[in-house]
Parts: sequence; C-alpha cells; structure tokens
Amino acid sequence: MSGANETFFTVVGCMDGRVQKAISEFGRTKFGAEYPDTITEAGIAGIIANNPDPKFVENLKTKLLVSIEKHHSKGIVVDGHQECAGNPVDDERHKEDIRRSIEFIRNLIENKIPIIGVFVVRNDESWQAEEV
Ligand SMILES: [Zn+2]
Repeated sequence: MSGANETFFTVVGCMDGRVQKAISEFGRTKFGAEYPDTITEAGIAGIIANNPDPKFVENLKTKLLVSIEKHHSKGIVVDGHQECAGNPVDDERHKEDIRRSIEFIRNLIENKIPIIGVFVVRNDESWQAEEV
C-alpha cells in the first residue's frame, strides 16, 4: 500500500488552492510526516459543523479510514481560512466551525489519532497557518 519510509498525515480542508502549501508545511512539521492525504470540499469545516448529510459523513469516514488504516496517518489537520468562498463567515465563526469539526471527526474515528485545527490567514501575498 505504501513504502516503508513513506509517512502520511491527513488533511480535512478547504479545496482553495491558496491554503494548500501552508497546510502541507504545517502538517509535516506538526506530525513529522511527509505526505498529506487530502480530503477537500469548498468550506469543509462549515459543512461538517452544520449537520452534514449522512452520505457525506459516510464518504468522509471511508476516506479517513483509508488514510488511518492503510497509510497509518500520524494525525489529522482540519482547516479553514480567511476569504473562504465556500464558508463565507467571519473569522470567529469559522474557527468555531473548525472546533466543532474536530469533535465531530474525533467521534467518527473513535479518537484513533490526534486531530488539530488550523485557521489560515492572509499575510500580504502569502498565507499563514495558525493553530486554532
Ligand atoms: Zn475555502
């Protein structure tokens, strides 16, 4: 399934291309793992925190379990970010959506691996990951 030296972490995050680099770097450092398994939707924290459709949840769980059981993921990053087209709420509400998503995923995977929330903010022309 994966090479002996290949290590993974999991991202449950927005599809927005502007935040992917910051999230990958954050996850690599935080979990000491190389490759992000990436599960995305537009504004995913807003979806998970607000009574998600059962089919969406089933699909999310299937992907998380592949990452955890086949790739032995070291941990999960749940992200949100400023200027999000998919979850256009203010920063505090978005961070609350991330916190609620963490709890939701923790239950879904029966607390198998660590989960960390990250909010990505604009810093001039670059994007910076901040732990929630
Ligand atoms: Zn977004």
